[in-house]
Amino acid sequence: MNNKIPQIGCACEKPGSNYTEYRSSELGIDHTDGRDGEVTIQQCKLCQRIWIHYFVQHESFSKSGRWYKGIVSKKDRSQITPENAVEYLENLEWYVYGGSFFDDEVTIGSGKMTVDR
Ligand SMILES: [Zn+2]
Repeated sequence: MNNKIPQIGCACEKPGSNYTEYRSSELGIDHTDGRDGEVTIQQCKLCQRIWIHYFVQHESFSKSGRWYKGIVSKKDRSQITPENAVEYLENLEWYVYGGSFFDDEVTIGSGKMTVDR
């Protein structure tokens, strides 16, 4: 997989933006290790790039909500499943993440994601 994805300055990749111009479709739930991560595909209406959005929270813990999103190429899109979305995102050069777990700060990061309890 080619994970070299340049940042192009579109609103969809800016941390902190509450940009909502996406076409969203649910991919499914990742039940790995009881995470129950919600995986959504979001296509930006401006740049047409496709994001994998991964959201997890643990209801017994406050401030446990966290999400990660990374860009996937059209070619790789069909290979993404709820179960391999985390691995895919962790292998990207960069992703955007945020949520109450991170005090609602939105940041660009890469590597290991905190998705387990
Ligand atoms: Zn965009």
